[in-house]
Amino acid sequence: MEKENKHLIIIGGVAAGMKAAAKARRESPTMKITVVTDEHYISYASCGMPYFIGDIIKDSKKLIIREPPYFKNMLNINVLTRHQATAINTKSKQIKVNDLEKGQELIFNYDRLIIATGAQPIVPPLPGISLGNIFTLRTIADVLMIRTLVDSGNIKNAVVVGGGLIGLEVAENLILRGIKVTVVELLDQILPPLDKDMALIVQKHLMEKGVWVITSDGVKSFEGNDSNIVTKVITGKLQIPTDMVILSIGIKPNTRLAQEAGIEIGATRAIKVNERMETNIPGIYAVGDCAETIHLVTGKPVWIALGSTAAKMGRVAAINATGGADTFKGVLGTLIVKIFDLHVGKVGLSEREAIKEGYKIESTIVPALDKAHYYPNAKDIIIKLIADVTTRKLLGAEIIGEGIVDKRIDLVATALTFGATVDQISKLDLAYAPPYAMSMDAIIVAANVLGNKLSGKTSGILPHKVVEKRESGEDLVLLDVRSEIEYKSGHIKGCKHIPLDKLTSRVGELDGSKEIITYCRAGLRAAQAYRILKNAGFKNVKYMDGSILAWLHELEK
Ligand SMILES: Cc1cc2nc3c(=O)[nH]c(=O)nc-3n(C[C@H](O)[C@H](O)[C@H](O)COP(=O)(O)OP(=O)(O)OC[C@H]3O[C@@H](n4cnc5c(N)ncnc54)[C@H](O)[C@@H]3O)c2cc1C
Repeated sequence: MEKENKHLIIIGGVAAGMKAAAKARRESPTMKITVVTDEHYISYASCGMPYFIGDIIKDSKKLIIREPPYFKNMLNINVLTRHQATAINTKSKQIKVNDLEKGQELIFNYDRLIIATGAQPIVPPLPGISLGNIFTLRTIADVLMIRTLVDSGNIKNAVVVGGGLIGLEVAENLILRGIKVTVVELLDQILPPLDKDMALIVQKHLMEKGVWVITSDGVKSFEGNDSNIVTKVITGKLQIPTDMVILSIGIKPNTRLAQEAGIEIGATRAIKVNERMETNIPGIYAVGDCAETIHLVTGKPVWIALGSTAAKMGRVAAINATGGADTFKGVLGTLIVKIFDLHVGKVGLSEREAIKEGYKIESTIVPALDKAHYYPNAKDIIIKLIADVTTRKLLGAEIIGEGIVDKRIDLVATALTFGATVDQISKLDLAYAPPYAMSMDAIIVAANVLGNKLSGKTSGILPHKVVEKRESGEDLVLLDVRSEIEYKSGHIKGCKHIPLDKLTSRVGELDGSKEIITYCRAGLRAAQAYRILKNAGFKNVKYMDGSILAWLHELEK
């Protein structure tokens, strides 16, 4: 524990900064603790802000978790709001602070310093960017402005620029307020941390809920009216009339203060820290969205800015800054987001990221139910698992569905933390009763399917790979083994249809010189058909993982 006269200063008063302050006080009852923040509000729930726009959270005060008097009276922590740190002198151990209300410059001495300056939205210098009603969403001040405008009833159309987590949460909440929403995304998919095949499931759902999603198109400029209020978004392909724009194209870490003080910036452009959250300057720590960390799967530096990470980093830095010892080993990029009726989760590496990292991978997509199929309200979830072929270790998972996604994502996060193989996951003793899971939980089913693929016992192929094969002109047979009724309700163009119960007697109709890919609704009958064909001597057979449930392209009726 540090001595009474030591002074800990924390720059930044939101998730990471205030967690560090409160924890430091618990660790050291006597150390002097000061928080400086340039904002008026501290300790607020950024993550709840989209729901305040949607009126799911009715009162903005609910977003403010604690106010400065609480920290003063209960914890003896001085919080200086509207005070901006402008320089750090690492030699004299002083920070220069600008009192934004009085316009005064102040100097504070510190013994330990925690930098928790967070991140800020990227605002591209496009023509018309400074027009009225163009917003970013990062602070309480931002959300109050957006909410006031939405409450005015004058907003009929909105454009969200950027199809990431925050952009899509805002899109949903604007729709809930009766506003027509267009999402414009530069990449060829929304939700960039996910693989495209999984992101397409979400995109389809958004379109069904009335959000117009445009991908592979970038905003070029904004046009406004005589009052300088935005009226149009000009993209590479379109002109979209609008009353409001939410810019959500990403964030960048606030590192200027640290950089100018000679604090090392990492490969990710966030502040470089060790496991103790300490920078290259002894006694100075960096936490939250301004700091990088290590990816627990790749072991490489990574910058993934999340509130869950910020709080944990703040805690570790506080323990170390007050004379204790603790470490923060890294992250898996675990995320979850609700998009209308869908829960969307990801942990570890996506297929695309794993390949980029140089892993030889196998993956599968397995639709399953979150509860016993006969139990009321059992809902679909679609699981994508990615594993390393060499070690059979799981590398990542993406899970989407109306059913319970979070517990499966957290289960995989735990497994990844301990470096589990696919085989270890398939043997986990998970809780089961009909209202909670299938007797073999969906994750275990998916691990079994992937284990079989890794062992070469079965040969599944992901839908997007089937599309690639067909587009490259490969002459293959797509075999639909569903019932007549299912086939007629919609099938993949150019397929051959033989229901599973007729397959054994009709195998003679199939051309064994071509590759045959079987499909059904969810993959189970396709896998059975695969076995029938293998047993009948067909050499070049695969089944389509996830089948129609994971096929997001046109169906022919
Ligand atoms: C709309 C939205 C939804 C989100 N949803 C989720 C979610 O569901 N799950 C999740 O895990 N994460 C979510 N996040 C991310 C999460 O909110 C951030 O990771 C978290 O707020 C980071 O906390 P921080 O303290 O590191 O940084 P910040 O929240 O950025 O706080 C940094 C503070 O430091 C201040 N500051 C900066 N420079 C100075 C200076 N020189 N002097 C004084 N003060 C300074 C800033 O003004 C700010 O007040 C969401 C974020 C947003 C915006």
